[in-house]
Amino acid sequence: MIINCKSIAKDIKKRARERAKDTKLSLHIVMVGNDEASMVYAKSKIKVLKKMGMHGELHRFNENVEENTVISFIDELNERDDVHGIMVEFPLPHHIDSLKIRSAISPLKDVDGMNPVNYGYLLLGKEILTPNTPRAVIHILENITELRGKDVAIINRTPVVGKPLALMLLNRDATPIIMHSKTHNLAEKTRNADIVVVAVGKPGFLKEDMVKKDAIVIDVGINVIDGKLVGDADLEKLANKAKITPVPGGVGSVTTACLVENLVKAAKLQGVL
Ligand code: NAP
Repeated sequence: MIINCKSIAKDIKKRARERAKDTKLSLHIVMVGNDEASMVYAKSKIKVLKKMGMHGELHRFNENVEENTVISFIDELNERDDVHGIMVEFPLPHHIDSLKIRSAISPLKDVDGMNPVNYGYLLLGKEILTPNTPRAVIHILENITELRGKDVAIINRTPVVGKPLALMLLNRDATPIIMHSKTHNLAEKTRNADIVVVAVGKPGFLKEDMVKKDAIVIDVGINVIDGKLVGDADLEKLANKAKITPVPGGVGSVTTACLVENLVKAAKLQGVL
């Protein structure tokens, strides 16, 4: 029972393309340093945009760049009418304050949904531009189930995945529980859940005996083993017991589609569409 995430991603991109009409929307990605994974992610986003007839551009800064230089550059992008979306690849070097960088991006161009203004809206129950990975999880779940009243166990408490996902689930009348490395009796809680979302970054973390029969498992984890991408769940065994998203071709592909969706939303907020 493997969930077909590629078709969900395809539908999201198709809708985004239709909403963008003939406007060539443009996303600008800012990257500091040489993190290899960030580079791969940035390039793949640009490739997806190009395939959709949109524009993606990567701006790279040296590892030692000053925080103010990056902020001034983001300010320039904020001012440009031909720039519809801005995002920064993480991680940033330690001398750069990620919150300051997130705050520098105009809330109207914040396609990652991580500016405190957009994040604050989410906390208040209003989803304007929201983080893409948790929204991808919501898209997948809404495609296969009714969320109202469901118990959802989330293993991740980060501002990028677990926290915003819990808020989005509350907005849809589900009952989330957030877990982390200090949680006691984690398996007991996952076994009681209708839906388990795992984003730990440890291959094989979620095992067959940790979920109930016919549960839904959303595997957000991305790990590389012997050059191959794997998630956090024991996919083969769990697929006999639950509905589960694959890795690769799962949450990651829907997340990229959600980025395009946010680019279109941002353009609407700016009055471009
Ligand atoms: P992270 O910052 O390292 O967070 C991992 C989370 O897992 C933390 O909340 C941590 O708890 C928790 N955790 C770690 N070990 C645990 C344990 N033994 N028991 C219970 N909880 C445990 O990682 P992240 O950036 O959120 O990413 C998590 C995974 O998702 C990675 O594999 C990443 O590549 C993937 N990811 C995928 C996408 C996508 O679009 N598909 C997007 C983002 C991330 P503490 O808070 O207590 O440390």
